[in-house]
Amino acid sequence: KAKLSRHGRAFLFTPSLRMQAVARRLYAMELHRAVDQGEFLLYYQPQVNLNTGALVGAEALLRWHHPARGVLTPISFIAALESGPLAAVVGSWVLDEACAQAAYWRRHGATGFRIGVNLFEAQFSVGDLVQEVMEVLARHGLPAEALELEITENIALDNDEIVLETLRKLKDNGVGIAFDDFGTGYASLSLLKTYPITRIKVDRSFVQGMLDHKQDDSVVSATLDIAHGFDLHTIAEGIENKGQCRYLKQKCCEEGQGYLFGKPMPASQFASLIGMKMASAA
Ligand code: C2E
Ligand code: MG
Ligand code: MG
Ligand code: MG
Repeated sequence: KAKLSRHGRAFLFTPSLRMQAVARRLYAMELHRAVDQGEFLLYYQPQVNLNTGALVGAEALLRWHHPARGVLTPISFIAALESGPLAAVVGSWVLDEACAQAAYWRRHGATGFRIGVNLFEAQFSVGDLVQEVMEVLARHGLPAEALELEITENIALDNDEIVLETLRKLKDNGVGIAFDDFGTGYASLSLLKTYPITRIKVDRSFVQGMLDHKQDDSVVSATLDIAHGFDLHTIAEGIENKGQCRYLKQKCCEEGQGYLFGKPMPASQFASLIGMKMASAA
C-alpha cells in the first residue's frame, strides 16, 4: 500500500487509528479461533553434537496453520499472541505437545533425546509453572533432563523475582534452562551471574557474521569462553554451512542447530531422522 509523495519517494500508507483497532480486534478473534480449532502445530529442528555429528535433540517451534494463508511462522503472529490473553494457553499447549512427542521418540529408538521448548513471559505469571512442568513430565514419562526450557533476556528482566524463583526450582528438579539469543540483549552478562542457566545459545546473527566480521567473531568467541568459564553447555544457532560448523567446533562449541543440519520440519518428517545417524558435521 505504498503511495508516492509529492517528492516522488514512496511512503507507507498509515491506516487510521480506528482501522488499526479494527484490525487488531479481527486478529485477536482469529487467534481465538486458532486455539479453539487446533490450528497451531509444532515443527522440530534438529540439534546435533558438533564433534560426533549425532542427533541429540530438537527445538520445538510454533507454527500456525492458517486456513487461508497456509503455515505461518511466529514472525507474523507472535507479537499479537504475546500482547493478548492467549500466550499462556498456547504456551501450555506447546509444552504438553512437545513433551508428548519427545517421549514418543525416546520410546522409539531415540534414547537420550532432548527437547527444547521456548517459554512465553505470560507462563510465569499464570498458575504455577513448576507444578505444570513436573506434571507434564510425569504424564508423558519424560525425565526432567530430557526437557530444556528456553528463555530470552526480556523474560528474565521483567518479573525478576518470580522468574528467578521459578527457574531455580525447575533447575533443582533437573530441567535444563537455556539462555536463548545470547548476546542480543543489553544485560546478558549480568543475568548470567544470577540466573540458574544450564546452557547458552549463541544467537544466529553472530554465527552468521563470524567468518566475515571480526566483531561478530569476537562476540562468538567471548560467549563460548564465558560459557566454559561458567561451566555451561553451549549450542550455536543458525549454522548454515560447513565452514561455520568447523569453526565452532574448533572453538569447542558442543552443539549446533541450523539449516546445515535441517530446517524446522513437521513431526512426521522429523521421525525419519531418528534412529538414523546424521551425516558427519565436519
Ligand atoms: P528462536 O527460539 O531463537 O528459534 C530459532 C529460530 O531461528 C527459528 O525461527 C528457526 O527457524 C530459525 N533458524 C534456525 N536455524 C536457522 C538457520 O540456519 N538460518 C536461519 N535463517 N534461521 C534459522 P522461527 O521458527 O521462525 O521462530 C522464531 C522465534 O519465535 C523463535 O526464535 C522464538 O523466539 C519464537 N518462538 C517459536 N516457537 C515458539 C514457542 O513455541 N513459544 C515461544 N514462546 N516462542 C516461540
Ligand atoms: Mg529458542
Ligand atoms: Mg534463539
Ligand atoms: Mg532467535
